[in-house]
Amino acid sequence: MKKNTIVVGAGLVGSLLSIYLSKRGYNVKIFERRPDIRKEQMNAGRSINLALSDRGIKALEEVGIMDDIKKISIPMHGRFLHNADGSTAYQPYGQEGQYINSVSRGELNKKLMDLAEQNGVEIFFEHSFLATESTLMLDNRRMEYAVFSNKNNTRKIPYETDITFGADGAFSKARLNYQLQHDRFQYQQYYIDFGYKELTIPAGKNGEFLLEKNALHIWPRGNYMLIALPNMDGSFTCTLFFPFEGEISFETLDTKEKVATFFKETFTDAFPLMPTLTEDFFHNPTSSLVTVKCFPWVREDKFALIGDAAHAIVPFFGQGMNCGFEDCRVLNELIDKHSEDWNLILEEYQTLRKPDADAIAELALNNFVEMRDKVGDPRFLLQKKIEAAFSKKHPGKWTPAYSQVTFSPHIRYSEALKNSIRQEAIMQQVMSIKDIENKWDDVSVEEKMLQLLG
Ligand SMILES: Cc1cc2nc3c(=O)[nH]c(=O)nc-3n(C[C@H](O)[C@H](O)[C@H](O)COP(=O)(O)OP(=O)(O)OC[C@H]3O[C@@H](n4cnc5c(N)ncnc54)[C@H](O)[C@@H]3O)c2cc1C
Repeated sequence: MKKNTIVVGAGLVGSLLSIYLSKRGYNVKIFERRPDIRKEQMNAGRSINLALSDRGIKALEEVGIMDDIKKISIPMHGRFLHNADGSTAYQPYGQEGQYINSVSRGELNKKLMDLAEQNGVEIFFEHSFLATESTLMLDNRRMEYAVFSNKNNTRKIPYETDITFGADGAFSKARLNYQLQHDRFQYQQYYIDFGYKELTIPAGKNGEFLLEKNALHIWPRGNYMLIALPNMDGSFTCTLFFPFEGEISFETLDTKEKVATFFKETFTDAFPLMPTLTEDFFHNPTSSLVTVKCFPWVREDKFALIGDAAHAIVPFFGQGMNCGFEDCRVLNELIDKHSEDWNLILEEYQTLRKPDADAIAELALNNFVEMRDKVGDPRFLLQKKIEAAFSKKHPGKWTPAYSQVTFSPHIRYSEALKNSIRQEAIMQQVMSIKDIENKWDDVSVEEKMLQLLG
């Protein structure tokens, strides 16, 4: 019998999961707290655009929507650095032909919802998840319900379900409900001392891009940074990652004059491209950045957390959504492997994905320091240059950590983390070679790396 499945949340991950399940013939209902973003003009969520990379792409290809998404994506082949001294530099992300994609969160979400509905998924908007409940039937069967409040919070409506997926994001109510019901549920949340604010660089007079289009722009400034990703209309969405408190912080930039002066002095080449800077700065919210870890993710064959609800991470590796899409892909593979035995499927799903989610959470936190600080440091750039040259010569022996995470979906995040720790230890030894600045491309350096690799 095909299962009645409820997905809580029609965000990126919930919508994709529902497509996978409905394509298998499952009867899927999604319940979404917000109104339908396809009908109402609203901010679609937490960031305006996102970097989509190979792990996410693999899942979108599997459900057959990637060709459509390509049409609304802008390839970003590398980082374009805007240094404090006014110089600029370009760092490719990987080998030639490897790139990440800037895509609008709202447009991607809408397309996923459309495809879900085309596959028979029913989406109930303005329904907020409250709890799961169960009743013992006369024949001793336990009947499960997911309970939602309707639009005006006037009614609680129970819907019968065989499996409920909590795909309701970092502040998941489904997770909270599970935590209240489950003994020994482990839960950890960690906020960094930095928040973010979205700002804008509009398109030029004729709709042209005012910065290099096919790159992710970074203004690294040591303790904080500004980044910009291109949009299809010629504009860029900028995100300022900045301390909440301290001498230079959201707290101290408290007047339009201070904001304008700070940007003019600190992000000198971006400032003239941001005509609505001071309005945007005080109009747009300052949002926090959280890492969430929890366990278990599943209950028998009846309930599972997926996407940010299971593992919210900070955005500095551009992997939160990609990781959530990979959850869906792995789950789909396990349905085949265990011939629809959902006890086995969910057990293996959490066994496989939990270490990978923990690994990308750690990699993402580490990447903040790399992006805001190290990318402008000449020794760090030299290290990357040595790694890139070695990797080009010995592709089977060395894949840079960034490429393992971003362009190598066959490598698990947990493997990528292990490999990156080992590589970093090797590079520390290489960087300590006397006069490495001048002999970085010497054959002795290559031999040393081969020897250290064993
Ligand atoms: C600033 C920023 C930049 C980012 N950049 C990237 C990037 O470049 N690349 C990348 O891969 N990831 C990025 N991420 C991470 C990415 O946004 C998330 O990983 C992704 O949105 C997770 O999708 P989700 O569907 O699990 O959760 P969400 O997108 O949060 O969706 C959850 C859905 O559940 C709904 N919901 C919530 N509560 C309830 C309830 N009680 N009942 C019913 N529905 C409910 C919400 O309305 C929402 O629609 C970024 C995140 C941030 C904050």
